[in-house]
Amino acid sequence: MLTLVEKIVLAVLVMSTFVLFFYPVVRRVLILARLQPEARFDSLLGRFFYTVSRVFLQLCTLKNERPWTGAAHVLIFYGALAFDTMTVNHVIEGYVDGFYLFGQSWPGRLFSASVDLFSLTVLAGVVFFAVRRFLVKPRAYDTGAGDSALIYLFIFLAVTTFLLFNMFSLALHPGGRTWAVLSRFLAGKLLPESISVSALKQNLKLAYWLHALAVFSFISYVPHSKYFHLFAGPVNLFFRKRRSPGQMLPLDLETAENFGAEKVVDFSWKDGLDAMACVECGRCQDVCPAFQSGQILSPKMVILNLEKHLLAEHKNIIRNGREKLPALVPRVFSEEEIWACTTCGACLHVCPFDIEHPDKLLSLRQNLVLAQGRFPAELRGFFHNLETYGNPWGLPPAKRAEVASELGVKTLAENPQAEYLLWLGCFGSFDDRGRKIAEAMVRIMKAAALSFAVLGAEERCCGDSARRLGNEYLFQTLALNNLKVLASYNPKGLITFCPHGYNVFKNDYPALLPVLDALSQEEKTKIKSIRVISHLELLADLIGRKRLALIKPENEGRVSFCTIHDSCYYGRHNGLLDQPRQILRAVLGGGLRELRNSGEHSFCCGAGGGLMWTEQKAGKRVNHVRCKEIIESGSRLVATSCPFCLTMLQDGLGDKGADEFRVLDLAEIVSAALRETQP
Ligand code: SF4
Ligand code: SF4
Repeated sequence: MLTLVEKIVLAVLVMSTFVLFFYPVVRRVLILARLQPEARFDSLLGRFFYTVSRVFLQLCTLKNERPWTGAAHVLIFYGALAFDTMTVNHVIEGYVDGFYLFGQSWPGRLFSASVDLFSLTVLAGVVFFAVRRFLVKPRAYDTGAGDSALIYLFIFLAVTTFLLFNMFSLALHPGGRTWAVLSRFLAGKLLPESISVSALKQNLKLAYWLHALAVFSFISYVPHSKYFHLFAGPVNLFFRKRRSPGQMLPLDLETAENFGAEKVVDFSWKDGLDAMACVECGRCQDVCPAFQSGQILSPKMVILNLEKHLLAEHKNIIRNGREKLPALVPRVFSEEEIWACTTCGACLHVCPFDIEHPDKLLSLRQNLVLAQGRFPAELRGFFHNLETYGNPWGLPPAKRAEVASELGVKTLAENPQAEYLLWLGCFGSFDDRGRKIAEAMVRIMKAAALSFAVLGAEERCCGDSARRLGNEYLFQTLALNNLKVLASYNPKGLITFCPHGYNVFKNDYPALLPVLDALSQEEKTKIKSIRVISHLELLADLIGRKRLALIKPENEGRVSFCTIHDSCYYGRHNGLLDQPRQILRAVLGGGLRELRNSGEHSFCCGAGGGLMWTEQKAGKRVNHVRCKEIIESGSRLVATSCPFCLTMLQDGLGDKGADEFRVLDLAEIVSAALRETQP
């Protein structure tokens, strides 16, 4: 179809596209190669199937927060696959007259029909996104308008020129065995009957070149834009975090060269890949409690600013010039945004590419605290109290033993044969409201005739807040103390009624064991054999096995309906979402009214990530935002499963004058429903 000169021009065009495409790709790969190592190569087959399902079934975008956007993306995605194949055909056709990838057999005809049809779906998808971005203008799309406009234009041109090319081709070869119904229809409608063969040939060639230019412009531009996610996104899904999103990996304090991230090269290659995979959809920003409450933190901007910095500093990164790199704070990130994250994980949960935002902020905190001694002033006393007394309030550790006797429970030292250890935690031991939950748990466990004990004076703070506030050293000190004590007894299970403690025992401590040289192998083996049980699992299990006799739901004096506030660390981070609903159904019968943001989409109370112990300095208070939702639900009873959440919601409802709303832990609700006599 092409003359010799045209064939040479086409070859030059293909080669230039190749260079324009691969130059930024290679540059990005070289940047990633200079970042810190991170092991993400386990279970390759599992990773492969996960990626295939996310990408090819489009589960990454078909999430329920934005169903229409997901559907429009599906239209474009499958169309793009068909068009990519067609592009190969288009190039070969330039050299081999009449070439058709699948021939004129039925698969070829089917393919011609599908590309024809997909040209419509792609156009529909692009129009949807263009209207949404440039007319509806949601806040989530507050970046990348130029990139989007160019890409929409390239796609629009690629599709329309393809249809033109097909149309002229069919007019020239009307007997061609193709099922391109749309192109045939357009040829019949748009082309004058009197058009000459030479005019058709000229137009066909013009359409050929226009299509080639549109497609090659698109391919060349993609890796220079946010649409690089087309390649980085699937790779990022492949290397996703397979452990609980709430788990933090330990810092080896003996061997680490840097504590946390001071400069960009202190991040791992996976952090860098995260930054390159972002499509700027803003889903993370939409669900972030810090952003929603008017604080400076936007998880989307954290990722975008990291990518910008990686690219801007690529020469220094690739040439190993660590000393020439600026410190990330305040050049790239402000301290204010770093300290605003509650580590709720909502951002990571909704991200189509499983980008791990909180980990970046936690690494930055670690560096500020451990290497620079910079943290909010109100944390000074908090760290001191944990370090000296093992609890946030600076109360004597011996008080924990008094609490044990007030609760009427023996310590493990007094009753080493006890099967379960009930972990009271700092709230259960020292906070008046937390003590009520502890009392409820003791009542329930006694009613179920469980053999259990507490630790008493040997217990220390689990270290969750210290760790998520960047103080890894303090966390490891507290953890070592607790692990040593645990290894000296033989409980078969450890029961917590705090999701933060649960997450630490279940996810953080096991990951810490390999770097704790102060523990013997025997101690580590013993610790690993202890089963960590949340109070939600315990209560649901006891009720399910009819180990508790409960007052019948229809009895008088019970609330008519109730709502649940799912804690981030039980729910989103550890998947404990069915149990609270099972428990409430058993105790209250019906009457459960879900909040607008519930279950895996629950909205944080504002206390996670150690922010229980800091002052929120800007915006609305996060707990006030959540309490507004609770008040709107009209449910006068709010069931929680976390002492932090309970405190934040109770305070928030009090601040709003909503004193008729009661906040109770699920253990308290179950305890109140216990019959006098038990089975
Ligand atoms: S973890 Fe929560 S608070 Fe932190 S950035 Fe993500 S959504 Fe925002
Ligand atoms: S980080 Fe994920 S959710 Fe946030 S804007 Fe980027 S792709 Fe979207």
